[in-house]
Amino acid sequence: MNDDGLKLEAREPSVSAGGEREPEGTRTHLSDVSFEALIEEQLRRMGENPDRPGLERTPKRVAESLRWLTRGYNASVQEAIGDGVFEEKHDSMVLVKDIELYSMCEHHLLPFFGKAHIAYIPDGKIVGLSKVPRLVEIFARRLQVQERLTEQIASALEEAVEPRGVGVVVEAYHLCMMMRGVEKQNSKTITSAVRGLFRSDPRTREEFLRLVLSPQFIS
Ligand SMILES: [Zn+2]
Repeated sequence: MNDDGLKLEAREPSVSAGGEREPEGTRTHLSDVSFEALIEEQLRRMGENPDRPGLERTPKRVAESLRWLTRGYNASVQEAIGDGVFEEKHDSMVLVKDIELYSMCEHHLLPFFGKAHIAYIPDGKIVGLSKVPRLVEIFARRLQVQERLTEQIASALEEAVEPRGVGVVVEAYHLCMMMRGVEKQNSKTITSAVRGLFRSDPRTREEFLRLVLSPQFIS
């Protein structure tokens, strides 16, 4: 690992963005290299020939795809919820269940995917139901660990609606577990974050968990 995270020690001769061959052992400023050129080099390191016809446009596609998959970095909760918070007297649990979720694990850059279940008990304010999945998108479209993703969704909802409690459950399959290493192909990971009444009142928490943890998962 390097000291500042921006430069890498060039271990083998590599082709820079400008097409010049770097002498062995020099420091390459990777921050000057285009995203596409990095992916082209990545293909080479994987033993591929980036010039063969099938891969010709792959660096461009992958760069675009990765930008899209991490577009959450440029999104804010403020924008996503906008004017979607309303004064309302409703004071029972609101639950949005089975929100599809696609994210990428920050350890392997491989997808994890599943569902999020989000509940809150209003305290004078409710949020438009269509805004809830948008909250998930903001945080899922970044490099993540499932635990942090779950907490971030809970915090965002808590800040936006100032409810009496928030409960979030995320259940997901991780491709880094399923297709590499341990190959635990059927294991799913469940994480939860509970705040306010969902934490202090066991009956509220139990009702929430009973409602969300249905026997079947991806149907
Ligand atoms: Zn992983």
